[in-house]
Amino acid sequence: MSTYPAFDTMPIGKQWRAGSSGKTREDTDPYTGDTLTEIPQADADDLDEAYATAVEAQRDWAAQPPMVRAQVMRDAADVMGARKDEITDWLIRESGGTVAKAELEWSLVRSVLWEAASMPHHVEGKIMPSDIPGKESRVYREPVGVVAVISPWNFPMQLSNRSVAPALAVGNAVVLKPAGDTPVTGGLLLARIFEEAGLPPGLLSVVVGSGSDIGDAIVAHPTPRVVSFTGSTPVGEGIAAKAGIKRTALELGGNGPIVVLADADLDLAARAAVFGSFFHQGQICMIGNRAIVDTLVFDEFLDRFVVQTKALRVGDPRDPQNQLGPIINTSQLESIQDKLDRARSDGASLLIGGDPFGPTGQCLPPHILTGSNDVATAREEVFGPVMTVIRADGEEDALRLANDTEYGLSSAVFSRDVDRAVRFARRIDTGMTHVNDAPVNDDANTAFGGEKASGIGRFGGQWAIDEFTTEHWISVQHQPRQYAI
Ligand code: NAD
Repeated sequence: MSTYPAFDTMPIGKQWRAGSSGKTREDTDPYTGDTLTEIPQADADDLDEAYATAVEAQRDWAAQPPMVRAQVMRDAADVMGARKDEITDWLIRESGGTVAKAELEWSLVRSVLWEAASMPHHVEGKIMPSDIPGKESRVYREPVGVVAVISPWNFPMQLSNRSVAPALAVGNAVVLKPAGDTPVTGGLLLARIFEEAGLPPGLLSVVVGSGSDIGDAIVAHPTPRVVSFTGSTPVGEGIAAKAGIKRTALELGGNGPIVVLADADLDLAARAAVFGSFFHQGQICMIGNRAIVDTLVFDEFLDRFVVQTKALRVGDPRDPQNQLGPIINTSQLESIQDKLDRARSDGASLLIGGDPFGPTGQCLPPHILTGSNDVATAREEVFGPVMTVIRADGEEDALRLANDTEYGLSSAVFSRDVDRAVRFARRIDTGMTHVNDAPVNDDANTAFGGEKASGIGRFGGQWAIDEFTTEHWISVQHQPRQYAI
């Protein structure tokens, strides 16, 4: 099997072609700095074409028997299997993820495709009772039509596909805008996979272009009925304002607490905290940004956490021995360093850290600080390999600290008493809480999403079907009705 053609065009409407903006953007490897491809960017006219074709293609697609749509999802999962090496190689080179991260992302994408293959057969309507004699009230569940998807760079393929696959599976067309740093893994590669799996042309357009050229237009355009956005909270707030009377599914930033209660298994908690704060250099929305530790076990936990963190290897993500690779770009690195500087001037103590290194200077060693919930690295989402460990005076104080944030995405709690941990978990204001596990978890069949400034809506299984369908009440009057007028 030959590898896919060079990624220097995009599927707009029914053909792969260059974007029309006249501007070209380089796609670079964040570890080596090498140019991976150069892509002529799309503009608002390309977007119009993508949306117009989507409207046309969607009608036929929605009318297909569910098994036809299911088969495309199954075939796309098979393509993922056949092209695993090519796909993971792109994930490593374009997003700077380690081998373990690329393998995890690849398996998440395949799981979402398997889950999406079940969706066409699980779109349910209802028949409701009516008080009007002779009336039959039916509620049909229909695809919304066209879905706009905007995705970030950190898990680009997974975070595009978890909207794209369910939306297509239940009969919609999709126009996808991947992040500027990951146009291939966030869009173009996925489009090639669906094409190879037999998805009819026009149903998935990928518009690669800058936020300033097409960001507003993709959201404000009259065609999409749902805007599915994954990214930062400030951009998400702008999208909610621009979307007007459209449904928005918003998966935004996080500030996950890992809570360690006094009766926790500290080895387990420390191991989970290492994965749950430093996996993919901490560039995960669900990551543990803060560890909130009961004062009775604070020192013991911290010792274990520091020892295990010191053993992590940072460097070339192609080397399977390395557990951390580069930060995605220099502005992201500067933003992390700015938060570290401000946390230290806020009074936080740095226990371990180090300067960035590597060919592009973007490999940042893991950092552990101790401090209050108000230092910059605890108050703000860092999105880097930085953990702030905070002392709590008992369980109620730990809960107060955990909830003292604008965000509410994921969280974790450690205790040997599972009932106690679940009672605690139910009082954390987040969409997801994991007992005796890291906060980084994603299952294709389960409700994934946030509360507060972390978003609106849920992914996964039935929740995704609901996000990408709408209900149509159709009543049938079987016998002439007596109108009181
Ligand atoms: P970002 O908000 O900067 O960008 C996300 C996407 O929005 C990109 O495709 C970008 O090009 C696009 N965009 C930027 N400005 C836009 C505009 N004005 N109009 C339309 N689109 C615009 O986020 P990022 O830096 O790519 O990703 C990191 C952020 O994403 C973090 O805050 C992280 O927590 C969040 N995130 C959330 C989840 C989740 O499931 N909740 C998952 C991953 C990442």
